[in-house]
Amino acid sequence: MKNITVIGAGTMGNGIAHVFAQQGYQVTIVDVSAAALEKALATVARNLDRMVAKEKITAADKDQTLARITTATDMQAGVSQADLVVEAATENVALKLKIFKQLDELAPPATILATNTSSISITQIAAVTQRPTQVIGMHFMNPVPVMKLVEVIRGYATSDAVTAQIMELSRLLGKAPVEVNDYPGFVANRILMPMINEAVYTLFEGVAGVTEIDTVMKLGMAHPMGPLQLADFIGLDVCLSILRVLHNGFGNPKYAPCPLLVNMVTAGKLGAKSGEGFYVYQPGSKELVVAPGFV
Ligand code: NAD
Repeated sequence: MKNITVIGAGTMGNGIAHVFAQQGYQVTIVDVSAAALEKALATVARNLDRMVAKEKITAADKDQTLARITTATDMQAGVSQADLVVEAATENVALKLKIFKQLDELAPPATILATNTSSISITQIAAVTQRPTQVIGMHFMNPVPVMKLVEVIRGYATSDAVTAQIMELSRLLGKAPVEVNDYPGFVANRILMPMINEAVYTLFEGVAGVTEIDTVMKLGMAHPMGPLQLADFIGLDVCLSILRVLHNGFGNPKYAPCPLLVNMVTAGKLGAKSGEGFYVYQPGSKELVVAPGFV
């Protein structure tokens, strides 16, 4: 594989482009928004600068990495040479199905089509293409250049050969891939989201306050961050939508989102990105200004 196309230049797309380009791949990022593409290149450059400052890479490495990334707003131009497409567009089923239909029509027949979705069924996405054996989940974690895990998700029809190729490619990127099957939430979010939801219920029922809940999990379970702060970082809207996927997918009431989480999302309290969730944040940053929004 030489040419990688990343669809979506947001939080995940720029990180995915960064790690591929740093390993010597030619990367094209495609986004409908020219502003998002510009911002993604600036973010990659800033993150590479940080690595130069920490002497993890040289200034020349940085320049070569950036030189391997090009951008496009036109999907056709962006995917015509791709050996692998990694889709990291907005988490929305209708949008992903539309994108995969287009990718299937525009990409060369041998191209592998991967998605970074957090929760949408790989099997459902693969079913809109004529190449379901070549559709796979490649679920990177945020921030992509830092986090080691890639959850590699096999759809119902994904072939052994394609799975092996994506596992190997993930290792070449310096990541630790884990192969899982395609059921709601895969492994990462099936386990993480019920824990976050339970933390919200614990708050909702008045068992303890925000700081107390997070402190118990940090100091008692050696988690680097408490579940409520983690939910703020992920985005409460994202947590809610993944819980809904689990709830609908399994039909089990144990996944029902806590009414407090639903209320907060409805009120626009989405966590760090909106400036307030369970904690209050400096505008545009993940720095806490005030500890808990709740007692
Ligand atoms: P984001 O909102 O930061 O970025 C999404 C980008 O997709 C935007 O720049 C948008 O302009 C672009 N886009 C929308 N429609 C498009 C189209 N038709 N063609 C090309 N680009 C299009 O989202 P994100 O947080 O980077 O998430 C992207 C994917 O990664 C989602 O599937 C999400 O579930 C998954 N994911 C996110 C995280 C996370 O922590 N943010 C972690 C793991 C996986």
